[in-house]
Amino acid sequence: MKRRGEEERRAFRLGTASIVSLPNVVTASDLEKPGKPGVSVLAGNECSYPAFPLIPHPLFISISPFKKAFSFFASMSSEKATALVLRVVEFSETSCVVTLFTREFGKLHGLAKGARRLKGPFESALDLLALCRIVFLRKSSESLDLLTEAKLERRFRAAGRDLSSLYAGYYVAELLNELTDSADPHPELFDEASETLLALAGGHGSVASVVLRFELAALRTLGHLPSLTACVECGHLVRGEGRVAFGVMAGGVLCGRCRPGKKHVVSMHAGTLRILERFADPADGAWRRMTIDRSARGELRGVVNQYLCHLLGRKPRMHGYLGSLAG
Ligand SMILES: [Zn+2]
Repeated sequence: MKRRGEEERRAFRLGTASIVSLPNVVTASDLEKPGKPGVSVLAGNECSYPAFPLIPHPLFISISPFKKAFSFFASMSSEKATALVLRVVEFSETSCVVTLFTREFGKLHGLAKGARRLKGPFESALDLLALCRIVFLRKSSESLDLLTEAKLERRFRAAGRDLSSLYAGYYVAELLNELTDSADPHPELFDEASETLLALAGGHGSVASVVLRFELAALRTLGHLPSLTACVECGHLVRGEGRVAFGVMAGGVLCGRCRPGKKHVVSMHAGTLRILERFADPADGAWRRMTIDRSARGELRGVVNQYLCHLLGRKPRMHGYLGSLAG
């Protein structure tokens, strides 16, 4: 037996055979003699069958298809990434399909075999909104990636008994899922999302402010931030007191000359627009200390909600649960 094992290993080392015929019938030394009658040697896809070129010999079982399958899996690269869990769907008694937003590769959908077992390579790490380190095999086609490992770094637990923090967390996941494409990485957005979940879990700042900051960060990093200072049509600065026109379809504020004839225009107070500007500015950290009165909060939610609905083509599911943010 030992000798046969050595022969097989030698044959593989030789790289001449995709092997293996019945190993106790054909040895590696046989493989070095392709002229020997009855010896099947498959080099790559080419079949060299000296004695019977076209007729497979029943004694020799080529595992070429297995080799192809093996080389397919081997060709899938194993990748490591930091990920936020956006969605978990049960797939079988032990497995689930997860949607993850990774810092390195953007959104991905993966099959996690054995993830529902308490013990295993996932150790219950694939919890909604959890931050984990994952190892996965990338698929080149449209099929699911294969998750092989997940290590929990931080579980999401909303602060206190405040349901709005929990719903806000779900809303972050929904926006990440809906606004991003698969395999389109946005590391800055990942960091913003991770910080937002940390703030919601720790109860840092008002939920309404944390959510608004994240919405604007998501729009900015994905290139959808509406124009807040210059008219979206002509580029003239839109300043002054009183009310300002915001074109939801146009994608930003409109000056008095460009406003007529535009569809889906909402009116907002100039003061509210300035609050929106400060929340949208990544360099301005003052948003944490700002107190926003009730009417401005309602106006802000109205404008941002309508803009996001227009962008997504539908109302985000979690908008219904975030009503208290406007009140
Ligand atoms: Zn204009």
